[in-house]
Amino acid sequence: MKILVLNCGSSSIKFQLIETDSDLIESNTDRCIAKGSVERIGTDEATLRVTVPPNPCKSTTLEILDHQAALSRVINALKESHAVADISQIQAVGHRVVHGGERFAASVVMDDEVEKEIQHCVELAPLHNPHNLRGYYVARKVMPQVPQVAVFDTAFHQSMPPRAYVYGLPYSYYRRYRIRRYGFHGTSHRYVAFRYRQIFGKAREDVNLISTHLGNGCSVTAIEKGHSVDTSMGFTPQEGLVMGTRCGDIDPAALLYIMSKDELTLHDMSTLLNKFCGLYGISGESNDMRELIAASAKGDEQAKLAIEVFCYRVKKYIGAYSATLGHVDGLIFTGGIGENSPPVRALACEGLTELGIQIDPERNQAVVGKEGEISTPASRIRVMVIPTNEELLIARDTFRAVRGLPLPH
Ligand code: ADP
Repeated sequence: MKILVLNCGSSSIKFQLIETDSDLIESNTDRCIAKGSVERIGTDEATLRVTVPPNPCKSTTLEILDHQAALSRVINALKESHAVADISQIQAVGHRVVHGGERFAASVVMDDEVEKEIQHCVELAPLHNPHNLRGYYVARKVMPQVPQVAVFDTAFHQSMPPRAYVYGLPYSYYRRYRIRRYGFHGTSHRYVAFRYRQIFGKAREDVNLISTHLGNGCSVTAIEKGHSVDTSMGFTPQEGLVMGTRCGDIDPAALLYIMSKDELTLHDMSTLLNKFCGLYGISGESNDMRELIAASAKGDEQAKLAIEVFCYRVKKYIGAYSATLGHVDGLIFTGGIGENSPPVRALACEGLTELGIQIDPERNQAVVGKEGEISTPASRIRVMVIPTNEELLIARDTFRAVRGLPLPH
């Protein structure tokens, strides 16, 4: 089945056309036929990029005034590049939807009721859900006959028990405003956990995993017998690890103190927390781990400190989730940093031998941007690098939901 996967932002659409079905999932051979993006929608300088492997990326700059025009352009480009002969070959659309609140613990075929429920979650994710919904509206117009499926970043973490998701706030805030820990990156954690079990031929029930997604946003998840039982992001993607530009866990009183000292408004504070903290804030120069590693190698002390704080926080969460799970079989690194940075993986796992984690320096160095084991043969816990593929999981869920097959969550 050919599935169009859409990730809609305020002025952008990212897409992949993926061929998948039960046999292809089983053999891990489902594949991306085409991918690309439209950026700067709403201007006369929008960019349409389409790659149909193995051909190089084709980029065009043109006027695209709204998301509907953008999607029509994408479909035309797919036809022109022979990724599809006709629009009718696209049999389903899968949408990345950031927030499914407490209503969605799995992917779902979209209809009026689902749309209403996603609307209900807009106030929990005001920067994302409205645009994700817009993707649904325009796809419904451009391809009215085609079923559409919502795949939520939060769904995988709905299995967390209350002791993991309830904050130490007056409980009335949970009742009144739905303030609790939701967790994000669920599609990524679920994908790499599935892939780990597939590589080792293990059943869900037989494996406990700690999955670390280290990209621009970063999170760690404790996965017990296939279910997320705790994750480091919370009510928003601000909690937990130190990230590119977000600080992660912090004493909330420190924020009040800064606001009062510098007379910051809520808006100022929100900007500070989203754009100027984390690796960028500590180093004062970059949110990109590559640049920080290069700077640190040249003796830049602030860059070195940023890397140390980042890795130490990952290590603390690995320790915490070892306690959560009691027994751990595998530790997974994924995301741009997790997949590509041996020094970060080494530092995050340093001194964890007592927990059963031992990295093999040579293996670690050799696994960059690809799948592979990086632990020593003696390590009780297998440490794996598994490149994430959220689009593939969205396509797989879309296929299953449309066919009425069971949806693993
Ligand atoms: P996103 O979270 O936006 O999906 P990615 O998962 O692609 O982002 O991660 C992007 C980050 O990965 C970059 O900011 C960069 O810090 C990091 N990264 C990419 N390649 C490397 C590398 N070779 N070494 C260290 N970090 C890398």
